[in-house]
Amino acid sequence: MNELIVYSHSDCFLKNNGINHPERKERLETLNKSIDEINDISIIRKEAPIASLKNIYLVHEENYIKNMFLRIPTSGLVTVEEELFADTFLCPNSKNSILRSCGAGIAAADDLIVNKNKKFFCNIRPPGHHAESKKSLGFCFVNNVAVCTRYLQKVYDVNKIAIIDFDVHHGNGTQEIFYKDKTVLYASIHQSPLFPGTGLEDERGVGNIFNAPIKSGTKSKEFIDIFENKILQNIDKFKPEIILISCGFDAHYRDPLAQINLESEDFYIITKKIVELSLLHSNGRVISFLEGGYDLLALHKSIKNHIKGLV
Ligand SMILES: [Zn+2]
Repeated sequence: MNELIVYSHSDCFLKNNGINHPERKERLETLNKSIDEINDISIIRKEAPIASLKNIYLVHEENYIKNMFLRIPTSGLVTVEEELFADTFLCPNSKNSILRSCGAGIAAADDLIVNKNKKFFCNIRPPGHHAESKKSLGFCFVNNVAVCTRYLQKVYDVNKIAIIDFDVHHGNGTQEIFYKDKTVLYASIHQSPLFPGTGLEDERGVGNIFNAPIKSGTKSKEFIDIFENKILQNIDKFKPEIILISCGFDAHYRDPLAQINLESEDFYIITKKIVELSLLHSNGRVISFLEGGYDLLALHKSIKNHIKGLV
């Protein structure tokens, strides 16, 4: 039977963004319950460890991380960034949520290299793809997928890694971190214009960045065509040794934060296509990181499709 390792931790439920905030613990509760209902795939659950600061500093400036943790309140909420639109709330339990979210990807990287496991889903929050090397943004503080990438390169000498981001928002943080790095290909399909406003097609880095902005109202077929032509074809040429996914379910038609019209089953198609490429170039090795997705019913259905596509 095919096998999937799911990393998560109860600390990830403790991150609190205030009343009526879309990035809430119910997202993980829903995903966990849905994953538990899957019985035709062997799912191994593991506890995400605390990420060491040394590994976080592979990506983030030390002062940024230290100052952020110093701001964590003993009660109530504070924001990391001054501008409220940045939406970076810290609650008393933030530190462990952030460190466990990042630790999930690091532990998955260890399993992938040392134990030769091949498929992973990191069921974590807070998400990471908006976090830049020295700035938090859009519910993100540490860039989980970026730390995993650098960790694989520094500790295990992996050379070429591709990050595919199908969250409906552009991963400005991941793009910023790898903007001048030919060893990492970052490819994103996202609604535009939309928060955070980056991700235009001419943002090309050193030829390693591929952005596919799509307009509000885009439906399944058009989305998948663009995904194949502007994302997957470039991954195919790059031949990555490992593929990481920034997995957001907010391009679903039910999602309250965006206006793309994917169906739950589309996440199976998209994921399956990524896995097919990984079999060609990456020995089938894929680590998927939860980013966005804010409608609970959409999450419930989409995660099952994503996991079915993964294994
Ligand atoms: Zn998103």
